[in-house]
Amino acid sequence: MTTFAELGLAPDILRALDEMGYVSPTPIQAQVIPRALQGGDILGAAQTGTGKTAAFALPLIQRLLPFANTSTSPAKHPIRALILTPTRELAIQVEEAIQAYTKHVPLRSLVVYGGVNINTQIPILKTGVEILVATPGRLLDHVQNKTLMLTQVNTLVLDEADRMLDMGFMPDLRRIVALLPAQRVNMMFSATFPEEIRKLADSILSTPTFIEVARNETAVTVTQVVHPVHHERKRQLLAHLIKSRDLRQVLVFTGTKLGCNRLANELNKAGIHADAIHGDKTQQERIKALDAFKAGTIRVLVATDVAARGIDIEALPFVVNYDLPHNAEDYVHRIGRTGRAGAKGEAISLVSEAETRYLKDIERLIGTPLEPVIVPGFEPGAADVPAFESRPARAPRSSDRGRERAPAKPQPSRDALFDAPYVPREPGQGDAAHAPARPAPTKQVAALFRSPVKRNVPDQ
Ligand code: AMP
Repeated sequence: MTTFAELGLAPDILRALDEMGYVSPTPIQAQVIPRALQGGDILGAAQTGTGKTAAFALPLIQRLLPFANTSTSPAKHPIRALILTPTRELAIQVEEAIQAYTKHVPLRSLVVYGGVNINTQIPILKTGVEILVATPGRLLDHVQNKTLMLTQVNTLVLDEADRMLDMGFMPDLRRIVALLPAQRVNMMFSATFPEEIRKLADSILSTPTFIEVARNETAVTVTQVVHPVHHERKRQLLAHLIKSRDLRQVLVFTGTKLGCNRLANELNKAGIHADAIHGDKTQQERIKALDAFKAGTIRVLVATDVAARGIDIEALPFVVNYDLPHNAEDYVHRIGRTGRAGAKGEAISLVSEAETRYLKDIERLIGTPLEPVIVPGFEPGAADVPAFESRPARAPRSSDRGRERAPAKPQPSRDALFDAPYVPREPGQGDAAHAPARPAPTKQVAALFRSPVKRNVPDQ
């Protein structure tokens, strides 16, 4: 097994890693570190949880060691490395990691992100920092205010580039890159590689080494389970799973901010301590909720994709896709919150009939079918069971077309998965509270998942 020392890292860095309990490099670290120490550009295909932060941060720090100094003069501490991340949470996390890795070397780091008063960041910038972690928008604010200079930057890292693209940061990124000296080392990481990301890589990186770790594959340590369920019964099923399986530290993804708030409220009403984080919450609220979740004082954190980006909680055991993401790549990101750095995790997806087409996209992306497990009492066809939050029934309106709703009376079979009979558990499968129901046979399920897509997209 390779050691960090064999990768050529300096003793002061090794000491910090030792104190953090890092025993050996992860595969991405073993590949990226030697190459980056030589000063070559890197294009890394790696999802979160693979240890990619240390993969780019450690060689970056080592290459700055000749500049490390204890002078109080700001001029001796120009920004030499710039790390851009899509979200504040990820920026904070990356900078925290850098603080830990630089514990024994006199290099300064700082994180700047939007949503907080810019004036609090200025005094620290003025004292000088070598390593700056930033979200693109706030970095440009500082550039505009002339509160930082990028003329000495010799290393650029773009972390989670695909997410920066999704969040509309491409113009900002290009503006920032144009401000940097041409002579520099570049490292770009992305979990997925759509066309625009490849173009960005072509324009920023110079003959990069492509290093790939489990691209588009979900971490092997994550058990993935799909529960088909009628959409009106999702809240009830979630509450049931949490209570009956005594799940703790559950990160739940919803598709909308409204749904996020509503679900957290409903869970609280059901006696499950939950909080919500999404883009409309202030940074303070988000940090508070995240800290409470990490500390275990809240059991469930309901989040939208943007807010949850980059959350790193050691050994987060459960991720629930309450709403399936419409973009299959988000599924990979979401479930990357669990099973991190070798810890075991479980990703649970609640899939309604209308979402089966997204499931198909996900399966195509990750290259493996996901086996549906029907939870007894939540059979997908059982729409007449009272919902978690009961609402008065209403007559269907024309605006309902294309939306899911409980059929008023039994209908002819439209999608065999959702009309599938209840699959009882086998005796001796263990405690009902902990064992999921028996999966539906794969062959049958694969055929079933195809049917809604065919129905919606004829003659594809
Ligand atoms: P990342 O993918 O960079 O977000 O890292 C995921 C988690 O793995 C973080 O909590 C890191 O501190 C941890 N980690 C990264 N590299 C190692 C390593 N070589 N040994 C143990 N833990 C690590």
